[in-house]
Amino acid sequence: MISHVLPTYNRAPLSFERGEGAWAITADGTRYLDLGAGIAVNVLGHANPDLVAALTEQAGRIWHVSNLYQIPQQERLATALVESTFADTVFFTNSGTEAAELAIKMVRKYWDHAGDPERIEIITFEGAFHGRSTGAIAASGAEKMVKGFGPLMPGFRTLPWGDLEALKAAMSDRTAAVMLEPVQGEGGIRPISDQDLRAIRELCDETGALLVLDEVQCGVGRTGRLFAHEYAGITPDVMMVAKGIGGGFPLGAVLATEEAASGMAAGTHGSTYGGNPLACAVGARVMQIVAEPAFLAEVNRKGGLFRQKLEGLIAAHPDVFEAVRGQGLMLGLKCKVAPVDLVKAGYDQQILTVPAADNTLRLLPPLNITDEEIAEAVARLDRAASALVT
Ligand SMILES: *Cc1c(COP(=O)(O)O)cnc(C)c1O
Repeated sequence: MISHVLPTYNRAPLSFERGEGAWAITADGTRYLDLGAGIAVNVLGHANPDLVAALTEQAGRIWHVSNLYQIPQQERLATALVESTFADTVFFTNSGTEAAELAIKMVRKYWDHAGDPERIEIITFEGAFHGRSTGAIAASGAEKMVKGFGPLMPGFRTLPWGDLEALKAAMSDRTAAVMLEPVQGEGGIRPISDQDLRAIRELCDETGALLVLDEVQCGVGRTGRLFAHEYAGITPDVMMVAKGIGGGFPLGAVLATEEAASGMAAGTHGSTYGGNPLACAVGARVMQIVAEPAFLAEVNRKGGLFRQKLEGLIAAHPDVFEAVRGQGLMLGLKCKVAPVDLVKAGYDQQILTVPAADNTLRLLPPLNITDEEIAEAVARLDRAASALVT
């Protein structure tokens, strides 16, 4: 008989009753070191006192207000995002998928508004993940996500990851936008080089195509910059954000330049919950903390420390691990074994990790993880790897 919860996930037999920082705790008090952070969501750890205060203060005032009215919490967060990025304007959503949907709609509307409605092709890359809506799965094109869900929304073209020659050849006066993650998350923590991202920006500038970056996973301090594209010294026209921005409360956003958003007049898009006061109160607090240069410098320092220790782990287990990649606290261990086996062995050592494509184990701890917890994580991964080969 089918489970009461639709069985679209292979769930681990683990359930957490509460959390404290980087630790998730089961009902019997067993503490798991959480290097998944709800898949790059809990950027400030579990039950962060600042975020609990932001949420409960707002909860005592007003929970939900329609976007038919002014929402000051939303305006405050939009201003914080505009002031710390390329963007001129922000639309709030409840998830990354919804952000992807709006980004796609915004691109199409832009060209329609510009008098070029035939210009609809969005170029994406293999290994991409933009969410699970019909539009977002069409954008990814991955067999395992699209199989059985056709017909797919037309207008997408998927190229090999980071293949600039293929991109040059594919771009035409039909190319509406190029859309990519600066560091592929689900695809296996695969960063695009700064040089290649700059080249993609140039190709977009030459052809007029919009550059859409999906920073749902790599954004909000994860890589040691507020947004990963900052490393390349370029800016996109449109950017999707979610996951970390809510610190665990459902929140997403589309950031855009005034030009890219020029077709989005009143009535062209909407959301009942998007930009809800609870979500935006938490998001504003997350931004206040994470956008601080000193906080981001710490993410970088800790990312370097973690990486160095992971190099030692690889040297100690050359049959299990191949390489470490990523930036800041968005790290991936390329494995020689199935990453799901390592994830399971990790459960026995009370450590939570997340698998990804390209045989990669993802390490996405809360950004405020301590040095001691990083050392503890590597010790637990070491025991998990040992248990796997014996
Ligand atoms: C998780 C993710 C999404 C989808 O976000 P949801 O909140 O699950 O809808 C989109 N893009 C990237 C890069 C992601 O990692």
